[in-house]
Amino acid sequence: MSDARFIVIGGGVVGAAISYGLARLGHPVTMIDGADDAFRASRANFGLVWVQSKGLGKPDYAAWSRRSAALYEDFRAELEDESGVDCAYHRPGGVTLALSDDELEEQVAILGQIRGEAPAGEFEFEVVERAQLDNMLPGLGPEVVGATYSAHDGETNSLFLLHALHGAFQRRGGAYVQGHHVTGIEAAAGGGYAVSTADGTVHTGDRVVVAAGLGNQELAARVGLEVPVRPVQGQVIVTERADPLLSMPTLNVKQTREGTFMLGASQAEVDYDITTDAAVLKRIAARNLRAFPFLSDLRVVRSWAGLRVMTPDGFPIYDQSPSHPGIFIATGHSGVTTAAAHAYVLADYFSKGEIGAELAGLSSARFHVQA
Ligand SMILES: Cc1cc2nc3c(=O)[nH]c(=O)nc-3n(C[C@H](O)[C@H](O)[C@H](O)COP(=O)(O)OP(=O)(O)OC[C@H]3O[C@@H](n4cnc5c(N)ncnc54)[C@H](O)[C@@H]3O)c2cc1C
Repeated sequence: MSDARFIVIGGGVVGAAISYGLARLGHPVTMIDGADDAFRASRANFGLVWVQSKGLGKPDYAAWSRRSAALYEDFRAELEDESGVDCAYHRPGGVTLALSDDELEEQVAILGQIRGEAPAGEFEFEVVERAQLDNMLPGLGPEVVGATYSAHDGETNSLFLLHALHGAFQRRGGAYVQGHHVTGIEAAAGGGYAVSTADGTVHTGDRVVVAAGLGNQELAARVGLEVPVRPVQGQVIVTERADPLLSMPTLNVKQTREGTFMLGASQAEVDYDITTDAAVLKRIAARNLRAFPFLSDLRVVRSWAGLRVMTPDGFPIYDQSPSHPGIFIATGHSGVTTAAAHAYVLADYFSKGEIGAELAGLSSARFHVQA
């Protein structure tokens, strides 16, 4: 079926990873993306490839995150080879710092449950005592009592990742159509589907992947799928560059290869608002200065607010339309972490026309109101 023509709606990290995956399988693919003023979580995130704490009570999602993280080094190397862009991915493991014994206890309980829900030996983490932590992360403040560490975790530069995906996709012959808002998906007269855009252009294909971030709810409803995504705002602070200090990311503070420190991230239900708020930024800074007091010597050079693409339970949605076979949906939070699995595994399922059984629990049926 490698000659099936695909149309992918959305050019964020989810749509781009799937488009790239389909193109490398030999499919002709057109990726249709919105305009520059669209909401784009892919350009506003923290760039963690994060496994610890993912999938509490949902072992299939935890396994999916681990699978993606395990594929990431090959993914990075292939993308760099094909696009010439180095995504600055590395996997030194990651740390979640605790500023009190209660925080540490809660974190250990969560990771312990995730480990208990995973097949034996597949998810490991360590509880790191303060003294040992000082050897891993310099500059910690006196309030840090300990941490959890997981070797599964890593980080990337998400802007470079997106750029690499777009470059590699186009190098594989994929067509990128930017600045076109999709308004309709309909069965085409000669078979397949017709995807129309606001300016009146119509693209036809045998199959369609809806990967339009916050645009997914409206588009998926057109093909009988319930995809209740909503925006959850996150604000991030970036400091000026400093000498290399942190060799591994923590959940809320990481140092980029260029030397800046990224401090994150808030969570707020503020609808479609991407303005930053001094009070929120102050809270982010205050919490992270308790973890790393030396940050107070650095100037803030940038801050932003972005919108997460959030489902009601926080887990992704992968599905095929029952009324329109060959139309697939892929959406959810943590699209940076799952990018390798999207490119290598999910694209393969879409190519074969059937989503693997291990992802059945991530179908949109779990949100079907009547069911
Ligand atoms: C502050 C913050 C921190 C985060 N940190 C991390 C992290 O550390 N690790 C991690 O894995 N994830 C993180 N995330 C989540 C991650 O950024 C998202 O999961 C991911 O970017 C979602 O990608 P997407 O392609 O689905 O959506 P988007 O990036 O929002 O892209 C959607 C695209 O669809 C297009 N579109 C929408 N509607 C239409 C339409 N009708 N027609 C055509 N095109 C359309 C838009 O133009 C847009 O380009 C974070 C998010 C935020 C906001």
